[in-house]
Amino acid sequence: MKAAFITGHGGNEVVQVREHHLPERAPGQVRVRVQAATLNQVDLYMRNSGAGITHRLPQIMGLDAAGTVEDCGGADPLLHPGQEVVIHPGVGCGRCEFCRRGDNALCLRIQFLGEHRDGTFAQWIQVPAAQVFPKPAHLSFPEAASLGVNHLTAWRMLFTKARLQPWETMLVFGIGGGVSLAALQLAKAIGARVIVTSRDDAKLARALALGADHGINGQTQDVVKETLALTDGRGVDVVFENTGAATWPAAMKSLVRGGRLVTCGATTGDQPGADLRRLFVRQLQIFGSSLGSYGEFHDLLGFVQRTGLRPLIDSTFSLDDIHAALDRLESGAQFGKVVLRIDVHEARAA
Ligand SMILES: [Zn+2]
Repeated sequence: MKAAFITGHGGNEVVQVREHHLPERAPGQVRVRVQAATLNQVDLYMRNSGAGITHRLPQIMGLDAAGTVEDCGGADPLLHPGQEVVIHPGVGCGRCEFCRRGDNALCLRIQFLGEHRDGTFAQWIQVPAAQVFPKPAHLSFPEAASLGVNHLTAWRMLFTKARLQPWETMLVFGIGGGVSLAALQLAKAIGARVIVTSRDDAKLARALALGADHGINGQTQDVVKETLALTDGRGVDVVFENTGAATWPAAMKSLVRGGRLVTCGATTGDQPGADLRRLFVRQLQIFGSSLGSYGEFHDLLGFVQRTGLRPLIDSTFSLDDIHAALDRLESGAQFGKVVLRIDVHEARAA
């Protein structure tokens, strides 16, 4: 089979598309014919540094995927060959205290596809049956693959952690990135009011067309001042943050008393001022979050099916064009997901 491997760290040349033997399907595993997978920031991190991640190289890249079940050993009553499915990116150990409680997003020994074990940028993948979920029927494979990282991350942040309510207002920093767009879509789907920021007016215009209530240009406008003006001086109930040091001070100052800040990233730095006096005087709450559990993925897929939500696709590349796809993601110019369509007509190598 054909797959995209990471062979080292630093530069596009460490990412190589090669032929590889099709691995055996172990008992309890499902073999899925991958139809589409999407790029995530972690793919760039793995390519550029990979620091702090334990893995053996070369390794197949890719966290999320949608495809069709090819072989499940016939033993799984919930899955059958030909079924269209979407894959959860994490393999929980099933035995630590967090897995026992049903929250495998906190698993002590969690392994992510494309980080700690072979991932989804391949024609076939074998994963434990617990990771395989039915695909929402109205979605294409690229749209369904997009749910596995960005929408799952945003789901846990909004509904498990910050508990956003339909009558509340949320501020989302850096619209255009996959997680921020997912947050906008999910929040609008429950009827919440959403203010978004970007340094790019074109991205703000697209976010407004998608349903955002207000856009603030973070380069030419004062985000705190504008946010307070839009909320009658009150501030927002929830801030959705994933950029870190550059936006943290404005994030803290944009919150209403008792407001909640939820974060899943720190691309601009992870050591902003803590602003502790504001934190306790105004009784703010701060939540850290990362990806989501099998239970949360199950709920997200049901929500998507019920509401008809469709993730946004920025661009589509073939597996052979993975370098161009990574460049597109790295450019920061994308609006929605950068997708790999995995060719269905390639012959299977021995
Ligand atoms: Zn565990």
